[in-house]
Formats: sequence, C-alpha cells, structure tokens
Amino acid sequence: MSPEADVVVVGAGVIGLATAAALARRGRSVIVVERNTAIAQEVSTRNSEVIHAGIYYPADSLKATLCVAGRELLYARCAERKIPHRKTGKFIVATDASEIATLEMLRERGIANGVTGLEIIGPEEVRRSEPDVRCEAALVSPETGIVDAHALAVSFLAEAESFDATLALCVEVVAIERSPSGYRLRARDASGALSEIECAAVVNAAGLGSEAVAECAGFDVDARGYRLHLCKGDYFALAPACGLRISTLIYPVPSDAGLGIHVTTDLAGRVRLGPDTEYVDAVRYEIDASKRAVFARAVRRYLPALDDEALSPDFAGVRPKLAGPGEPFRDFAICEESDAGFPAFVNLIGIESPGLTASAAIAERVAELLSGL
Ligand SMILES: Cc1cc2nc3c(=O)[nH]c(=O)nc-3n(C[C@H](O)[C@H](O)[C@H](O)COP(=O)(O)OP(=O)(O)OC[C@H]3O[C@@H](n4cnc5c(N)ncnc54)[C@H](O)[C@@H]3O)c2cc1C
Repeated sequence: MSPEADVVVVGAGVIGLATAAALARRGRSVIVVERNTAIAQEVSTRNSEVIHAGIYYPADSLKATLCVAGRELLYARCAERKIPHRKTGKFIVATDASEIATLEMLRERGIANGVTGLEIIGPEEVRRSEPDVRCEAALVSPETGIVDAHALAVSFLAEAESFDATLALCVEVVAIERSPSGYRLRARDASGALSEIECAAVVNAAGLGSEAVAECAGFDVDARGYRLHLCKGDYFALAPACGLRISTLIYPVPSDAGLGIHVTTDLAGRVRLGPDTEYVDAVRYEIDASKRAVFARAVRRYLPALDDEALSPDFAGVRPKLAGPGEPFRDFAICEESDAGFPAFVNLIGIESPGLTASAAIAERVAELLSGL
C-alpha cells in the first residue's frame, strides 16, 4: 500500500499546526488528525498567552533556546500576518530585599540565554508605570509580550493548508503500527467507525494525549521517560471596576513550584490572576471558587490594594509536565525515535510553557529531524 501522506501529525494544537506548516512549506504532503471538533481547544488556548522572553530556563536547554528563537519567529509572524499581539514588557518583582539576589540571578540567566534589554530598577521607577504595584525592586523584561493564541493557531493552519496540508477533525488516533511504507495509523471518527491512514512519518504532537499516543505506537513510556504529570492551573479574573491600574505583566519571583501567581492582561485589556499549580489525576477544568482568598493573598504581596471581592473564577488549563511534584527541571522531549526502533517517528512530549512562544522554533526543529525523509 502506498502512503496517503508523507507525514501524519497527531494533534491540531499550536505545536501540531506549526509543525504541519513547516513540513508542508518544505513540500511534504501532510495530514493533521485532531480528536476534537475544532483546532486548538486544549492546552493551546487555556494558557496565559504570554510571549516569553526566555529568562527562566537553564542555559542550552531546549526550553531556553527554542523560546528565544521561537519568540523572534513569533513576533515576525505576528507582524507579517497581522496576528493580534502586543509587546507589553514585564516586571518580575521582588517584594522583600532577600529576593533581589534572585532577580540578579534571573538577569544573568536571561543574558546567558540571549535575552536582551534586561535591567533591574527600583520601586519608584516601577510605580511610574504601574502605580498600584509595591516592591523593593523589579527585573524589567522589555521583550515579553502577549498574543492571541487562537489567531496564532489559525495562522499556522492557514499556512499549512496553503501548501495543501489536510486537517481531519473528530478523528482520534487509537493505534499505530509499522507498515511496509512506514506507519499505519488506526483512527476512530465521531460515529465510532475505524479507518486507517498510511504514512512514511509520524509526529506525535498530541499534548495531554502525547503519552497515550506514544504508548499506542508501542513505546515503553517509562523507559523513555515519557510519563506525563498533569498539572492544573486556575485563573481568576479581576473586575474592571475595582479601580486597580495594571498596564503590563507583573510576575513574582519564581519558586520551585513554578512562576508564581502572576497578573496578566489580555489583548482586550482584561486582567487576570494565575495560574496556580495543582497536580491532578485527570484532565478537568472546573475552578474551586474557594481558592479566591489564596490567589488574593499571593498577589497582595505586590498589589496591596487588591480586594478578594474583585476576583471571580475565570478558566483553567492543564500542563502536560514531565516533572512530577517536587522533581527537578525537565526539558521538552523532542525526539526522532530511530534509536528506539521507530525511524521517522517524532515524539513531542512535555510541551508545557514556553511551548506557545516556542511553537515556530519547535516546528523548525521537527522539520529538520525529518529532513532525511
Ligand atoms: C496554564 C498554562 C499556562 C501557560 N502559559 C503559557 C504562556 O504564557 N506562554 C507560553 O509560551 N506557553 C504557555 N503555556 C504552554 C503552552 O500553552 C503549550 O506549550 C502549548 O499550547 C502546547 O500546544 P500543543 O499543541 O502541544 O497542545 P494542545 O493545544 O493541547 O494540542 C494537542 C492536540 O492533540 C489532540 N490529541 C490528543 N490526543 C489525540 C489523539 N489520540 N488523536 C487525535 N488528536 C489528539 C488534542 O485534542 C489537542 O487538540 C501554558 C500552558 C498552561 C497549561
């Protein structure tokens, strides 16, 4: 049987669609299969929509290098294709003097990662642009911004389709086996009917489903280190009438648990707080309204006039993390799996933040991994 496509990409989130665009642009025939009724319904649109500068991640990690490269590609893409975005800049604030050393460490790490424009400023300077914020000092990141994540995903789909890639919605990949032409994927549609797709190469960009997709292809996910930990992040919205003035992105000093509950604005000017970090056993999106006091207390450290009453539950997202609770840093897994006996099979696992920022660079990396096809 001859393959129906050079490459099947499993998952139409921002990573799968960016990858489809990068491969189709290079002349590959591509089919993207997505289990939902529309693109980008999961991690890609349940996030902070922040274009990260690349400050937080260890030097030479994929998260650092692909964030910095992806940010440049993203700003260029947004300008070229008129994708709504804004270079807002961001403050990471030290709320007591003991945290200033962490700001200095972050600035050094950011510089090592190739982030430009980082500087530490005093509280008066912060107050000039953010009058309601109180801090001892802040690290300013002028390269940080926000983007309309759904519009970004749509732009990747439009580009992929302009090079004849095909999107198949309501199609869930349930099994993958080797075949003479490469791989045979078995997929179930909304009616429950099974069909098969033959292809030469597979890209597993299934986000929260990526561990299951790897497993259904026969990977030993424990031996490969692909077991995912689901980490939920809730957001609360700030009432516009509360009187607090926020014009940019305000982050606390990060801790081992993550970046900390931060304050972001979206492109419509809405302000929200979050996400927190809660490891969960299954994907769920309801928000526990009683967390409001915890969110307000955390953010009052740098926004002292914040009132609990100004917060209401907004939405939640779930991170596909490779690191479990308390475990050290884990990088993105972006692996062409010839050494495991799966040539031309690329697994993308643990694509948590800064995956949105890095999407175009991740896609370029995958296209390079499959360049010998
Ligand atoms: C709370 C939170 C905040 C974040 N904030 C930021 C941020 O500010 N900046 C940033 O850069 N990044 C951020 N991220 C990370 C970013 O959102 C992700 O890295 C990125 O969206 C991952 O995209 P994806 O395409 O891999 O996943 P997804 O968008 O989830 O796409 C995967 C797709 O695969 C499909 N799928 C799964 N299994 C199958 C199957 N068997 N068959 C067919 N289809 C399947 C799913 O339905 C889904 O549509 C955040 C993430 C979270 C959760």
